Amino acid sequence: MSDLQAEISRRRTFAIISHPDAGKTTLTERLLRAGGAIQLAGNVRAKGERRRTRSDWMSIERERGISVVTSVMTFEYGGCVFNLLDTPGHEDFSEDTYRTLTAVDSAVMVIDAAKGIEDRTRKLFEICRLRDIPILTFINKMDREAQDPFALLDEVSSALALDTAPATWPVGRAATFAGTYDLRERRLRVAEELPQSDPRMVALGEELELVQAALPEFDKESFDAGHLTPVFFGSAMREIGVTDLLDALVSFGPPPRAQETDTRTVHADEQAMTALVFKIQANMDPNHRDRMAFARICSGRLQRGMRLRHVRTEKQFALHTPQFFFARDRQLAEEAFAGDVVGIPNHGTLRIGDTLTDGESLRFTGVPHFAPEILRRVRLDDAMKAKKLRQALHELAEEGVVQLFRPQDGSPAIVGVVGTLQLDVLQARLAAEYGVAIGFEAVPYSLARWIEGEKNAVAGFAASNRSAMADDLDGDPVFLAGSAFMMRRAAEMNTGLSFRDTKQIG
Ligand code: GDP
Repeated sequence: MSDLQAEISRRRTFAIISHPDAGKTTLTERLLRAGGAIQLAGNVRAKGERRRTRSDWMSIERERGISVVTSVMTFEYGGCVFNLLDTPGHEDFSEDTYRTLTAVDSAVMVIDAAKGIEDRTRKLFEICRLRDIPILTFINKMDREAQDPFALLDEVSSALALDTAPATWPVGRAATFAGTYDLRERRLRVAEELPQSDPRMVALGEELELVQAALPEFDKESFDAGHLTPVFFGSAMREIGVTDLLDALVSFGPPPRAQETDTRTVHADEQAMTALVFKIQANMDPNHRDRMAFARICSGRLQRGMRLRHVRTEKQFALHTPQFFFARDRQLAEEAFAGDVVGIPNHGTLRIGDTLTDGESLRFTGVPHFAPEILRRVRLDDAMKAKKLRQALHELAEEGVVQLFRPQDGSPAIVGVVGTLQLDVLQARLAAEYGVAIGFEAVPYSLARWIEGEKNAVAGFAASNRSAMADDLDGDPVFLAGSAFMMRRAAEMNTGLSFRDTKQIG
């Protein structure tokens, strides 16, 4: 194996998905600590405790420092380099979440042992399933009253239609929860030695017989395909089961995968450097108006000082200050490898979905925009600020906070979101970062679809539906319909056109 291949094969890039309160923050902190990335419970903790209400969450997002630090965290453990990507913590589904999940090679699904599968876990899981991302399941809070492990395994498989195989088994329960038994390595991991006569050991012996008789064994191929999840039991708070999970990621967690582009499949361990921008964070430092583009390196080695090809604009991009993020600080990245995520400061040149290469012209596919489910017109209170609003909306739409639609009849901008919380975020950020106060007004449309088809046919349709036509951020035509019925009718009457609810970007 070449040095390059060796570096790449030890990368593990993953996200944690869970329902609020299941223990994502606590587990994150324990993982970072196991990797030596933090000595003290720091920012991660602060985030967990202060995010309880909606307004709290927004003020935290405004203190950009915290969310930046947690967008991606890099740490080392067991000879591997881990990149842990944070999925946004709020309850609404957002495109940001989806895009973050396009940048990982595996996901850890955290489940509260008393509550089982909850709403948001299910939603996030479905997103992972769209891309067949391998998932490891961590059943947390086994130190409290919990459901029976057999029942929990059963629930995961039936609620998610996903095969499960226990990777570890809990020793003791609730207050007497002492550790885990590793079913693959046949090894006990308990804090203090337990005599064979201990009731927990006796129970374990009986349960293991049942496990072996009744439950499937771990199958690596099904795991890689996203069809089977290994299940770990533990308590993030008491630091039980955390190393089981990390050891598993080291031994069989997927290394950086191959990715599709418009011209060919890119393999992680090839020489050519390619990277994909999947997230933009603006105004991290309000004094500087800079923007951080988060790029996942998809193949090869990135080096500081490289001149990159920015494929969308066909311009050169000099990479002066790529950065790595750790639990509490960031550092210049002298070099980084496929699987790593680096932050690239820029002034708006880089956009979500952009491909960067060391020369080749190709574009990564698979990062979509979703048709928004909620549309609102932006009402500006101070007409003097129209120009500023225009610029601000453009920037925030580029960052992916909302989608922006400019009606072709020249009326004020319409914004589209997938969840209503995004509207609150837009309003708060316009006020805080741009000093622009806005309100929202209802529009007579409930659906937006991208129109694709032969050029003249699209133009003809647009001309006869002018009041319901808008251009998106890239200038692509969008049809706004008042109801699903009207959308269906438009599609039936214009069979040469496609009305799409997603759009590829990049
Ligand atoms: P998040 O919302 O998913 O990030 O959850 P947190 O990590 O903030 O945890 C939610 C609550 O559950 C906090 O009060 C934690 O202290 C608690 N908690 C997390 N893990 C465990 C655990 O393993 N056992 C117990 N008993 N409590 C836990």
